[in-house]
Amino acid sequence: NKFEQLGLNESLLKAINDLGFENPSEVQEKAIPLLLEKDTDIVALAQTGTGKTAAFGFPLIQKIDPNNRNTQALILSPTRELCLQITNEIKLYSKYVNVHTVAVYGGASITEQAREVKRGAQIIVATPGRMQDMINRGLVNISKIDYCILDEADEMLNMGFYDDIVSILSTSPDEKSTWLFSATMPQEVARIAKEFMRKPLEITV
Ligand code: AMP
Repeated sequence: NKFEQLGLNESLLKAINDLGFENPSEVQEKAIPLLLEKDTDIVALAQTGTGKTAAFGFPLIQKIDPNNRNTQALILSPTRELCLQITNEIKLYSKYVNVHTVAVYGGASITEQAREVKRGAQIIVATPGRMQDMINRGLVNISKIDYCILDEADEMLNMGFYDDIVSILSTSPDEKSTWLFSATMPQEVARIAKEFMRKPLEITV
C-alpha cells in the first residue's frame, strides 16, 4: 500500500483502509509528503475528481492538535453542496482521531451553525459569504488558525467572493499556511496567491 510511504499516521491509514482507497492519486502523491514535511504555502492546479479533498484533508487532519479546542483550520469552498461534501469526506478521514469538523454555509440556520461551532470546531468548512457573516457577528473566531485552504479558488472568484475572501484572510493570522486549490489560474486567483501567500510551492496534475 503506497499510502504507507507518504508519512501518514496509523489513524489515517486505518481510515484509508476502511474506505478501500488502494493507491494515492497523483495530486495526493505530490501534496501529502510535502504538506506533512513542512509548513509551506502551496498552489495546486487540480480538477475535481482528482482526489484533491484527501490531498489536503489527510495532512490537515494529521496536523490538527486534538487536545486544542480552538479552530485551527478553515477550508473555504464555493457552494453549499461542495462544503457539505468536503465536511463529509473530512469526517470519514478523521474517523479514528478526535477532531471535530463543522460546516458553515448559507441558506440554513446561522444559530444552529453557531451552536455547533461553539461545541468545538477544530476544522471549519465554509462558504465565504456565510463565513464573513459569522465573523461579523462574532460567532466564529479564526484568530488562531494555522491553516487556511482555498478550495476551487477559481470557482469562488467566479461567484463573486473576492471581497469576502480578502476580508476573511485579513481577519486570520499572518503566521499560517495557505493551501490554494484551483482548476484554472485566472488573474484573480494569481492575485490572491500573490497578496496572501508566502512563496507558494506549485503542484500541477
Ligand atoms: P475529490 O477530487 O476530492 O472530489 O475526490 C473524488 C472522489 O474520489 C471522492 O469520492 C473520494 O472519496 C475518492 N478518492 C479520493 N482519493 C482516492 C483514492 N486514493 N483512491 C480511491 N478513491 C479516492
